[in-house]
Amino acid sequence: MSEELAPGLYLVATPIGNLGDITLRALEVLKQADRIACEDTRQTQKLLNHFAISTPTTSYHRHNERQRGAELIDALKSGARIAVVSDAGMPGISDPGSWLVEAAIAAGIAVIPIPGANAALSALIASGLPTEQFHFLGFLPEKAGARRTRLEELAAVPRESAETVIFYEAPHRIADTLGDLESVFGPALRIVAARELTKLHEEFLRGTVAEVRRELAARDRIRGEFVLLIEAPAKIMGIPGLASETWENISTKVARLQSESGLDEKEALKRLARELGQSKSELYRELQRERARRK
Ligand code: SAM
Repeated sequence: MSEELAPGLYLVATPIGNLGDITLRALEVLKQADRIACEDTRQTQKLLNHFAISTPTTSYHRHNERQRGAELIDALKSGARIAVVSDAGMPGISDPGSWLVEAAIAAGIAVIPIPGANAALSALIASGLPTEQFHFLGFLPEKAGARRTRLEELAAVPRESAETVIFYEAPHRIADTLGDLESVFGPALRIVAARELTKLHEEFLRGTVAEVRRELAARDRIRGEFVLLIEAPAKIMGIPGLASETWENISTKVARLQSESGLDEKEALKRLARELGQSKSELYRELQRERARRK
C-alpha cells in the first residue's frame, strides 16, 4: 500500500464524526498526494493535524469550483496527484467534487475513489427499512413551497414495491420537513431519523412519522446532523384510481375488511376491487407481491 502514488485525481472519503473511520488507504493517499483540495481548509487541517499529515491544502468549494477546478485539471495534466476531500464523508455526495470528476474524465485523467464513511448509507444499513432498493435525494429544497412540491412529486412516482428514500436534513428544518412528510404521505408513514451517526450521541428514531414528530417536539432543542429515511409505499403503475389509495397497502385493507365484515380473503379482495374500481386479479397479484416482500 505504501507504493508510490500514481498520478491522478483521488476522491477521498473522510469520517462523518468518528475519526476512527478514516481508512488506512485514505491516510496513505492524503500523505502522498501533492496537494489536497478541501471544501474547507480549516476543517480538513484539523483532520490532517490529528494524523500528522503535512500535505499542502488548497480550497475547493461550491463558489470557486470552476476556476479552482480548472487550475487543478492543469496540475493533473502535468502528472500531479491531487486528493479531494469534503468536510465529512464522500466528496461529490451533496458536496463538491462531481464537476472536477467530469472535467478530469474529459481530460483523460485517472479518477480513483478511496471509499469510506458516508452518512446516507450508514443510516440506511442500520435503519431497518428495505435496503434492496433505495433512492437518495440529498437535501430537499429549503423553501417551504418547493419542498412540499418535491415531496408531492415523490409521492406520485409509480413504484412496484415499497422503496426507502433517503434525505439529508438540517436540524433547524427537521420539524418542518416531518410536518410536510406527514401531510403528503399520511401519519402512518414509516420513517427513521438517524442523528449524529458515529458520534457519542448517535441515535436512531424509528416509528411512524407522527411518532417521530412527537418525540422530537418534546425536546427542548433539536441538535445534531440528521439523515431522514422514509419507506415510500408501493404505488401501482398504470392502475388508475389506485393513486390515492396507496398509503395503506392492499394486505392491510384486506385484513381490515375481513375483520370488520367477517369476509374471507377472497370475498374481501373482491369487495376491495369493486370499491377501488380495479380488477380482482391485479389486486391479488399486488397482495402476493407484498407478502413476498415480507418474507
Ligand atoms: N458528503 C457527505 C456524506 O458522504 O455523507 C454528506 C455531506 S452533506 C453537506 C452533510 C449532511 O449529511 C448533513 O447535513 C447531514 O444531513 C448528513 N450527515 C453528515 N454527517 C452526519 C452524521 N454524522 N450523522 C447524521 N447525518 C450526517
